[in-house]
Amino acid sequence: MRLLGKKALITGAGSGIGQGMARLFARNGADIAVNDIDPERINETIAIVEAEGRKAVGAPFDVTDFEAVQAGVNDAREKLGGLDIFCGNAGIAPSVDFVDMSPEAWDIMMKVHLYGAFNGCKAVLPGMLEQSWGRIIITSSMSAVNGDKHLTHYSAAKAGQVGFVRALAREVVAAGVTVNAIAPGLVQTNILGEVDDEVINKYLPPVGRIGQPEDQAYAALYLASDEAEFVTGHLLQVNGGSF
Ligand code: NAD
Repeated sequence: MRLLGKKALITGAGSGIGQGMARLFARNGADIAVNDIDPERINETIAIVEAEGRKAVGAPFDVTDFEAVQAGVNDAREKLGGLDIFCGNAGIAPSVDFVDMSPEAWDIMMKVHLYGAFNGCKAVLPGMLEQSWGRIIITSSMSAVNGDKHLTHYSAAKAGQVGFVRALAREVVAAGVTVNAIAPGLVQTNILGEVDDEVINKYLPPVGRIGQPEDQAYAALYLASDEAEFVTGHLLQVNGGSF
């Protein structure tokens, strides 16, 4: 019960890593605002959180839409009675050769990952600063560290998230808010359907099994806890040894 009484908003929580975070955070006592662009997936995660005995509310907005994020976050804060933890986790990863990459394909990657982080943090931070307590956790990627073939747009956006996290962490640490990122290696989720086999093979974890959402969720649980007060501006690599 490391998050007892806390309220968390998780983007992209209808599937994979975000859903794993929602389950584990709820198991540890948090109420959850479940964001996704896909309403059916939101309902699935709401049922999971409720089965853990916690309150769940749907937050169906597109993380790329500044106004929609502001409205969705305000609504979630009202329905949950506060907001203490923000996980900026929504993501896409369609692989494409750089030579064939369209400006639109580049743009959407920046919008979901970089603007998604910007929009979310703009919306949640004022409340966290006011209450002098907050935890922000952005799901980046090992692609930010290594750079991946056919994922130049994704690798750039994920590396951009890390620079953003480090800078924002400095601005808000004295006010009781920490800002960190996790860098998953290969995790068994729906997103792998979008990624080249070559990249998947590169990240097969030496630990001897493929990563599961729970592996990432436990890292996020630590960063969201009171115990992680002294940890900020950090990129926690959770990759089973495939660094
Ligand atoms: P996933 O596809 O299972 O989940 C991603 C969720 O994000 C989906 O439910 C999707 O509907 C939602 N989403 C996409 N665009 C959105 C938008 N504009 N607004 C709101 N929701 C949106 O994939 P996952 O593996 O759980 O991915 C979660 C995060 O982890 C992503 O940021 C991804 O880049 C990152 N990541 C995943 C892996 C991996 O191997 N699975 C590795 C490194 C990083």
